[in-house]
Amino acid sequence: MCRLEDVPSVHTAQAVTPSPNSSAFIASRLTPTTFLIKEYDDIYSEKPHIYAKLIQQLSTIIILDTGCGGHSSNPDVEIKELREFLETVGIEDNGGRPLNEGGRMKYIIILSHCHYDHILAVEQFSDSMILASGYSPEFLRPSRLPVHSLCQELGIETPSYSPTLVDHMHQVLSSDGKKTSITIMHTPGHTPDELAVYDGDEKMLYVGDTLYENAPIIFPKEGSIIDWMETIDELISFVGDQESQNGSVVRINAGHETAAQPALEVLTATKAFMEDVLRGREAVQRRWTKRGEETVMYEQDGKRFSLICPERLVVEARR
Ligand SMILES: [Zn+2]
Repeated sequence: MCRLEDVPSVHTAQAVTPSPNSSAFIASRLTPTTFLIKEYDDIYSEKPHIYAKLIQQLSTIIILDTGCGGHSSNPDVEIKELREFLETVGIEDNGGRPLNEGGRMKYIIILSHCHYDHILAVEQFSDSMILASGYSPEFLRPSRLPVHSLCQELGIETPSYSPTLVDHMHQVLSSDGKKTSITIMHTPGHTPDELAVYDGDEKMLYVGDTLYENAPIIFPKEGSIIDWMETIDELISFVGDQESQNGSVVRINAGHETAAQPALEVLTATKAFMEDVLRGREAVQRRWTKRGEETVMYEQDGKRFSLICPERLVVEARR
């Protein structure tokens, strides 16, 4: 989501689910191998999704995004480190055991993109393989990361990490070179480095901040609605191909809000909303200045989809 403080909050107050072990995270099972970890009460109101795929036979745990660094609004939270949570906190849906008990499995960290709410805990995994999109190495240059991660804007320290930049359709290998079911796709739009992850074994597509429901899809000034539209078309065609090959429904999971929903329906509905915006069928609901740019908000009736972006991105995409 990557809201900054100058963004009007569109969330209504939600009851916070206290974690039984006083942790900044809660985890629940999504598939036989994959868990959704929510940082449910962070000080930034991002409530990011972190996904953990356990591949026991390869002694590997793949973590998609690392969240907001455990900075909880609740001062009584004891476990703030994602890694400590993974290695020590028993999870009911995992038979009461931690997801990576004692740190026995090797980590592979995939970063959906470099915004702060996805990377703030990445330094806890500096001994592990960290993968990011190779679409725009320039965008991820360490000297530009404070701005592109939005850390500078928030006045927080930018994490230091050295990702391995991967190609489009990169097949992820375990640390000893064995094939996993995970493919990384370049999906620029939200940011140039936005990526998607596809788990072919479980027909699960993870799209980071490319889209989600029930909260504004936010484009920073480094984003592009033109690129985003191409990405959505590619994802629709990719999901269509996967479904026609094996008949089972692909499900979509986002960096916030949306998890385990039918991918094709969510992708086509999001695209239709964006087309409504571009064709002038949605009215601007709010406007303000953010990071020096005139910023607009659109919101669908029923509020399933909404959009916040610099107006310039809409104007460029309309041309
Ligand atoms: Zn983002």
